[in-house]
Formats: sequence, C-alpha cells, structure tokens
Amino acid sequence: MDSLQAMPVCSPTMALQLLKTCHATSKYLKTIVSFGGVTNDQKEEAKNHGLSIFSWEEFLILGGDHHVDLPEKTKSDICTIMYTSGTTGDPKGVMISNESLLVNLAGADSVIQSIGESFDQDDVYMSYLPLAHVFDRMFEEVFISHGSKIGFWRGDVKLLVDDIAALRPTVFCAVPRVLDRIYSGLTAKISAGGFLKKTLFNLAYKLKLDSMRKGFKHEKASPFFDKLVFSKVKERLGGRLRVIMSGGAPLAVAVEEFLRVVTCAHVVQGYGLTETCAGSFVAIPNDFSMLGTVGPPVPHVDVRLESVSEMGYDALSSIPRGEVCVKGSVLFSGYYKREDLTQEVMIDGWFHTGDVGEWQSNGSLKIIDRKKNIFKLSQGEYVAVENLENVYGVLQEVDSIWVYGNSFESYLVAIINPNQQALEQWAEHNGIAGSLAELCENSRTKEHFLAELAKIAKERKLKGFEFIRAIHLDPLPFDMERNLITPTYKKKRPQMLKYYQGAIDALYKSTK
Ligand code: AMP
Repeated sequence: MDSLQAMPVCSPTMALQLLKTCHATSKYLKTIVSFGGVTNDQKEEAKNHGLSIFSWEEFLILGGDHHVDLPEKTKSDICTIMYTSGTTGDPKGVMISNESLLVNLAGADSVIQSIGESFDQDDVYMSYLPLAHVFDRMFEEVFISHGSKIGFWRGDVKLLVDDIAALRPTVFCAVPRVLDRIYSGLTAKISAGGFLKKTLFNLAYKLKLDSMRKGFKHEKASPFFDKLVFSKVKERLGGRLRVIMSGGAPLAVAVEEFLRVVTCAHVVQGYGLTETCAGSFVAIPNDFSMLGTVGPPVPHVDVRLESVSEMGYDALSSIPRGEVCVKGSVLFSGYYKREDLTQEVMIDGWFHTGDVGEWQSNGSLKIIDRKKNIFKLSQGEYVAVENLENVYGVLQEVDSIWVYGNSFESYLVAIINPNQQALEQWAEHNGIAGSLAELCENSRTKEHFLAELAKIAKERKLKGFEFIRAIHLDPLPFDMERNLITPTYKKKRPQMLKYYQGAIDALYKSTK
C-alpha cells in the first residue's frame, strides 16, 4: 500500500470498521464512501483524522456539473486486483486486465450458446459465492450483460431456503459447501418421511438415475416422477431453477449425482482460479458421463498436463495425469508487487495451477489432487491430504474434516466437525446422553468415529498409512471468525495448525 491512496466504497458496517483504523491508516486512507447513511459525528471523526466520509448519495453529486473526460482504456490496463483465498499462505493480489475479463466474458457467452441456453431480463442469478470471489465476479458480469437480475443470499445457511423462496432464482452458483448443506437438508427431510414416501422416492430416484446414465437428458429421463416426486424439491428451490453451477472447490460425486437427479435442473461443475479469471473448464450439462469431472476446457484457453514425477503422475501414460497448466489471454498479469511469485508459476507462458488433473476418455478433466498439499510421512510415504479428506468427508457423521500429518510422524490424525444430527441420533440409539460438546469429548463417540473412518478407508482400499489413528472432535464448525477457512470455505491449513496445535500434540502423545 505504500504508493497507493485508498478510497474504499463499502457497506456501512465496513465504513465504521475503517473509521476505527484511522489513527494508523490516515496516511493512505483519504476518502470513505458508505452505501448507507453517514452521521455528523462520523463526519467529524473522519475530519479529525484528515479524511472525508460520504454517503453514496452525497458521493454521486460531488462533482456537480463538472465534466471530466475519462482516461482512455487499453486492453492491458489492470481493471481489478483480486486477492486469492490464501490457503497456502498470505493472500496474493492477482492483477486482472481488461482483456482477461472481456475474453472470459465472450468465452462464457460462447459456452452458454453452445449448450443451447440463453439468459434475459426474466432470469435471476443468485449468488452463494462470496462477492469478492472471481467466479462470482464473472457470473455477475455475464448476467449484467444479459440484462438479468442478480440476487444475494444473506450469508446464513439456516436462512438459505427463505432466501431462495424470496428470490426464485433461475441460475445459482455456489461453492460445494453450500450445496452439501442443501443435500444434507434434503436427504434428512426424505429420511424423516414415512415408509411409503421414502420407498416411492427411492424408486423414482433409481429409475431416473438409470435413464440419465443411459444418456437421457434430465428433463426427458423421467417426466412422470419429475411431476410426482421431484417437483416438490424443485418447489423448495424456488420452482424456476434451470442451472446450478458449483465451483471453487471439489464437489462430492454423491452430492452432484443427487442434485442432478432431484433438482430438475442442470448441475455442472466449473474449475478455475483467480489467476485464470475463473472458469477454465466447465462440464457439459446433460452429459451424465461428466459426473465428478470439471468438464472440457472452455474454447478460449489452451491447457495441458505436466507430469509430477514425485507424486507418480505421468502426463504421457495411457491415463494422462499431471499438473494442470493454462495458457491464453485470460491469464492474470502477475501478482501485485510479487514478481518473484509470478515467475514461480508462469513458465514459458504457461500458468502452473498446482492442481493435479486426470484426462477422461470423454475429453473432460477430473481434478484428483493438489500439488501444494502433499507431504511425506516419516517412513517416506507421500500423503495427498485433500484426496483423503474427500474420501472421509462422505461419511454422514462428518460435516468437515481436516487431516493432518507431517514428516516427523508416521501416521495421520484428524480434527473433525461432527454432523450434529447424525451424532445425536447415534448417541440416542446407544444410550449416551449429553450436550453436543459433551458427546464430542466422550471416548465412545471417538471410538465410533474411528471405526467409521477405518471402515470407509478399507472400503476405498486406502493404504495403511492413509488411515486416521486419532481424532479430536470440535463441535464448532471451522469458521472464518477463527480464521480457519477462506470465504470460499477452503481450509487455511497453516492457520488450522496454529489453532489446533495443542489438540494435535495431545493426539500424537496419546497414540504413542
Ligand atoms: P481461488 O483462486 O481462490 O478460486 O482458488 C482456486 C483453487 O480452487 C484451484 O487451484 C483449485 O484447487 C480449487 N478449485 C476450484 N474449482 C474447483 C473444482 N471444480 N474442483 C476442484 N478444485 C477446484
């Protein structure tokens, strides 16, 4: 910030927060614009620190009739510095040019046309992504360019259904964590239904799934059961939903399959990074073979896989696997003031994403690993934790899991956010009483969790060193308040280690 003067345009709450920083930031901060009203006291306080604060209405008429010619724009001008989510360290300022944004917008339009979709002013795009996320930014630009409406949820998962009912979206874009919640909510409601309802649902699900697997489009797969059974799900999601897009992190196959069958909407995954200005891959709707993949590359990028020999991934083997590299005018212009980091990831014009992909025979890509999140255990075995977290995360008992190990230890431990409903049901069946926090401390609960983890590890044929040997159950979900996750719900691993260091040490001590 040393050469910058900042003029934040922000919410009234943020404006108040910024005012509190004045004593330390007034060297850079000269003007604040609040979308809400501004009181005389706040104006006075700002003035005392040598800065000005305006409400949006005041700001709009500041210039009066004074005419100013806008500076000429060029393709290479930076239009946004967007900060990455900071999963591997400090967030980096990704510089995005006018050209990157525009090429992506044009590309998104060609993808939309190629799947026979179109959007207009009757469409409502509802975003479940944090505003500052590149996926949301791109989507908003796309929908603004089509004259569609944009709605925002209130940020509270418990109010999600009310928000949907109020906005009746036709398209929504979410991070998997939000879709996981919708999935858990719907499956819990179905399980709580009577025997007949459940049997009918299961039958309808199986038959529709079979038809979709055979290649029928979702709207043609089972119109009868759509009307009889799935229309209720559709109504719960506002009744008008046509497209659900997941991005920002991997979506569990079980969740994707379920939503594809029951929502009567296209459900697709997209993949990209802030550095690639959002979606570089988008799955083709209604192509069931793309389930669990992020689809083929979009037309406006070049992609290739690069072998990662230390992880055993060979880009030239019969099933090509390797680091996903992207080239094209969509790419970012560099990290703000971090030329060193830019050079690490930009090699011969190819942006190295750090994600490991596997080409599928239908031309789509599956993200199978992340180069950045591997470590060696003390016996020399490499562990890719994200992969393991995806395996263990499908357990009904587990809301979220952070798997930990390091090169000084020979086995893995984990911190788990249990699913309250599943845990309470299990406790009731087993005659164990207590609050959620007490259940988390109970040794029988921990044994139960370890047994479930071992069961799924065996089922998925994990290697011995990939089994979890000890767990700590945290009743509080990993949250942004404790700085444990990013706004897109990605785990901030260094911060998690700092926060749970005591628990981790105790786990290793208890198992030695
Ligand atoms: P960000 O720049 O904050 O959007 O983070 C980009 C990272 O999110 C990528 O490097 C991937 O690790 C992850 N990511 C995004 N979309 C997906 C997806 N569909 N499947 C798996 N990982 C994803």
